[in-house]
Amino acid sequence: MNKKLTIYSDTFIWIKKPKGLIYNSQNGHYLLFQPTSEIESICKYLNNFDNLYSIIFDDETLNSETQKFMQNIEERHLGILTNVEANIVSLPPLLNILNAVEKLKADKSRSESENILKYFSALTVYTGGKCANTNYYKQTFYPCNSNEVLTSETIINFLDNIQSQYLNSINIVFSDILNYSDAQVLIDYLESLQIPTTIYVHYTEIMINNRFLDKLRNNNLTVKIICEIDKDLQNILLFCKNESYHYNFLIKNEEEYNILEEMIENLQIKKYTVIPVFDNNLQFFEEHVFVNESDILATKLSKREIFAHQALNTNFWGALTVLPDGKVYSNLHNESVGTINDSIYDLILNEFHNNYSWRLIRNQKPCCDCIYQWLCPSPSNYEFVIGRMNLCNYYNMQK
Ligand code: SF4
Repeated sequence: MNKKLTIYSDTFIWIKKPKGLIYNSQNGHYLLFQPTSEIESICKYLNNFDNLYSIIFDDETLNSETQKFMQNIEERHLGILTNVEANIVSLPPLLNILNAVEKLKADKSRSESENILKYFSALTVYTGGKCANTNYYKQTFYPCNSNEVLTSETIINFLDNIQSQYLNSINIVFSDILNYSDAQVLIDYLESLQIPTTIYVHYTEIMINNRFLDKLRNNNLTVKIICEIDKDLQNILLFCKNESYHYNFLIKNEEEYNILEEMIENLQIKKYTVIPVFDNNLQFFEEHVFVNESDILATKLSKREIFAHQALNTNFWGALTVLPDGKVYSNLHNESVGTINDSIYDLILNEFHNNYSWRLIRNQKPCCDCIYQWLCPSPSNYEFVIGRMNLCNYYNMQK
């Protein structure tokens, strides 16, 4: 008997042999399957846009495996089986975004250049100065040790030149705020911008004396204290008890996590983020940071989020970072896109032309061969620091 299968328009069909996955982005339901040749040709037919995500078939001519596959699709709410006359219209979810790079190459007019400002939304500035010498700043907000220091005047000039209504997040990471001249001038300026701004300071700055607290107490900026787990931390947290700071706790192993958990409980800390840092602790990352197949399938992603994974990097998109030597990066693990003396348009254009990070997607091995290519989070700084492009336990188990 002839029947019609129509896949819902929020449902994606992916085949990466030897696996196939049908995923409904509206309800998170899915079907993992082995693509036999019959099932594979049905999927190819469905993914052809001209076929309106429907296929008419004779139930009795399908083999039993394919019949089960068709039933599973309906039972898991990925599509619907009807008689052939049913008038149900659906379209495969296809990414259809404006190719900004091609458009920019074709149209070099000023108005088009100005348009690209809307892609730049977050700026991070590392002031520089003397502090602990680690590369943690390439993984998360952490002071950057350097001889050079970006003065408040230089930072203010750079921000003055940007003049963009689309910039909606500024981060200033101090390395040595106690010796940073004109910190108050910079903080007053940042307040006047009325752009959400976060000031990052390492907790050891608070240990020395509390001049830093005085500098920041009377403003509306968000203050985040970067903390590492050591014997002094509890005293600092007690000292800051009445301040409305947010704490970024960096942890490297389970032991640190357990100490931290107890401290948070005892001191009733409410505003905090726990951030794993990679420091030759691969086993800790494998056990607690890397994703497993069950984590991936338990995360419900909307159509919009899947499209985002296919087109751009959701961690890096729109962000630029300035290091103390004045070089500007879209990603600290790659070449710079220019310096603070370049125009913001040129900096953004350089990123678009070189694609150091904003459009870094999972199109490299092993992810390009993996069925979860577009469900996994975009590549992050951890991939660069660890030196492998997949932060998962799944792929290793498949080998
Ligand atoms: S190989 Fe890549 S896409 Fe596949 S599960 Fe691992 S990180 Fe995700």
